[in-house]
Amino acid sequence: MSLHHNILASAYYPLKLIYSVKNLFGSSNNRLRVLLYHDISPDDQDCFAAQLRWLSRSWSFVTPKQFEAMISGEEKIRGSNLLVTFDDGFASNRVVAEQVLNPMKIKALFFVVSDFIELQNRKESRDFISKNIYYGPPPELLPENWQNMTWADLEALLEQGHCIGSHTRSHARLGLIDSQSDLEREVISGADILERRLGTSIDHFAYTFGDLRSFSDKALITARRRFRYIYSGLRGDNSSGVSPFALRRDCSALQDSQLNYKVFSNRLLGAFLEGAADFKYARDCASLDAWALSKDGAF
Ligand SMILES: [Zn+2]
Repeated sequence: MSLHHNILASAYYPLKLIYSVKNLFGSSNNRLRVLLYHDISPDDQDCFAAQLRWLSRSWSFVTPKQFEAMISGEEKIRGSNLLVTFDDGFASNRVVAEQVLNPMKIKALFFVVSDFIELQNRKESRDFISKNIYYGPPPELLPENWQNMTWADLEALLEQGHCIGSHTRSHARLGLIDSQSDLEREVISGADILERRLGTSIDHFAYTFGDLRSFSDKALITARRRFRYIYSGLRGDNSSGVSPFALRRDCSALQDSQLNYKVFSNRLLGAFLEGAADFKYARDCASLDAWALSKDGAF
């Protein structure tokens, strides 16, 4: 763990104490945060399960439907609430849904890349990851388990009560796309393909890479015309009037030197969820909020 992460992890218990004291004195401490995972490797599955059990001591997991109701104001936000999401559509997502989430009765939201789901074999899948999702490392250096979910996997997740969202058509970096027709291809047709194939409405969209520079006002306005909820990768709390088009998420892992996503230690994730790093994202969140409120019709 880096020094920076060590310092943050050591801040967890003091921050939690501050939160508990504020609660005791009746301050409004209602929270709604969104966790972001990617692949969960077989080696990390127990750690992932333990992390969710540990989180459940301080946080309530909400379903995507409850999250929608809370964001729209139909359901009051009380206490500390967490939505679990996954990006990209890795095959391990179905495995952890069935082996970890379902036994814990957690319903998650899976953001998938429609061109990735279409792939039929391991070689195509790993070439796609190397070219479109991770930009560079050759397929043979990717972790052994990395491969796409299939349409059957997504149907199974829906049957199990989970929700599917869109994560673009080809995992393009939308901030680099200027052409409106190319943006629509990525943002809108990717979701329409999912909707047609799965027979369910696709209302949730997470843009790729998650940072502000990977998105744009033009891309957000395009997405806003198609979706009810748009998610970033910027850390923050969604409980107090955040636009449904500028939702914050907390990534719960970092990519290590072997290109795995290693699940964070509990205390480090706990510190992030207590808001220890939110200040770092405040300026980008403000820009995202401004885009979310900007006038339509400019493009
Ligand atoms: Zn992604």
